[in-house]
Amino acid sequence: MIHSLFLSKGLNWLLNKALSQHICIFTLHRPVGPHGLNGVDLTMLEGFLRLLRRHGCEFISVDDLFAKRHHLNPAKNYVCFTVDDGYQDQSESLIPILLKYDARPTLFIITDLIDKQTLPWDAQIATTIRATDHSELDAGALGVPGERILSLKDKRHARRYLSLHAKRLERNARQAFTDRLKHTLCGEADIDTRHFEPTSWQRLNELHKEGLTVGTHTCSHSPLSTLSKDDIRQELSDSLAVVKKNIPSPSKIFCYPVGMKEDFDERAADIIKNQGFIGALISEPGYFVSDAVEKNPFAVPRLSLPATTNTAVRYTSWMEKLRAVQ
Ligand SMILES: [Zn+2]
Repeated sequence: MIHSLFLSKGLNWLLNKALSQHICIFTLHRPVGPHGLNGVDLTMLEGFLRLLRRHGCEFISVDDLFAKRHHLNPAKNYVCFTVDDGYQDQSESLIPILLKYDARPTLFIITDLIDKQTLPWDAQIATTIRATDHSELDAGALGVPGERILSLKDKRHARRYLSLHAKRLERNARQAFTDRLKHTLCGEADIDTRHFEPTSWQRLNELHKEGLTVGTHTCSHSPLSTLSKDDIRQELSDSLAVVKKNIPSPSKIFCYPVGMKEDFDERAADIIKNQGFIGALISEPGYFVSDAVEKNPFAVPRLSLPATTNTAVRYTSWMEKLRAVQ
């Protein structure tokens, strides 16, 4: 009942007319799993998709959303889904559910992960923290400011804390930090990376045939604000070339690695535009609003898929949209 009210077509139309149309671009990362990351509950996702469909919501791909933004129908409640990175559990369980409901998802891939089977820096930190049996880390000795001794009992907190430090470093310093962290916590032992298996080009092609769009999320997942202009250019052109070589009609939208406001800048936006992309997505929360996208199509916010159906419905409803314009 409450869902019917929130997703009421009449109210949606009225508010789209009165305010400008606010569209939800959801971002999904990993499905729930033993990897220690916050994961999407697949039962919740499926229930949510069913609910959206039952209430006549229209799934739109992110490319269509940008390209057709001047011709959107105010009577429709559009919802868009994006998935970031390119791990096997995403291509095996998350994306098939989105495709089952014709949700027109786009997967933004880290091309070195799939092409060279190289784990990005943040996954290297995650797997190191997961594998270690140390209970604390002398973070100060690794150059991390703040608390010198970091407890590793709460692995999720430790991973976040160390990733936040690493993401601000320049590329070579970030790799050196990741290597030292690995050495300090796991010595020379092989680290178990089972839960960070990349998907494959073959699997991506199968999913593409079923309606998945594939886009680039750079080669290495380095925050662009930490790279030189030449490195940004190379990350973009190399990753796009690899995607084009392997998958037909890649997305014309770019997705920033990490994507919080300190992770990109105007230099990156200029380079993205010059490489032929028509828009770019960030990870700061917010709605797709045509007027704002008109002014700046290269920093469009998204919303993390919430953990509960009720919150997810609220995000796609007039209720939350009304709060967003206040
Ligand atoms: Zn990412």
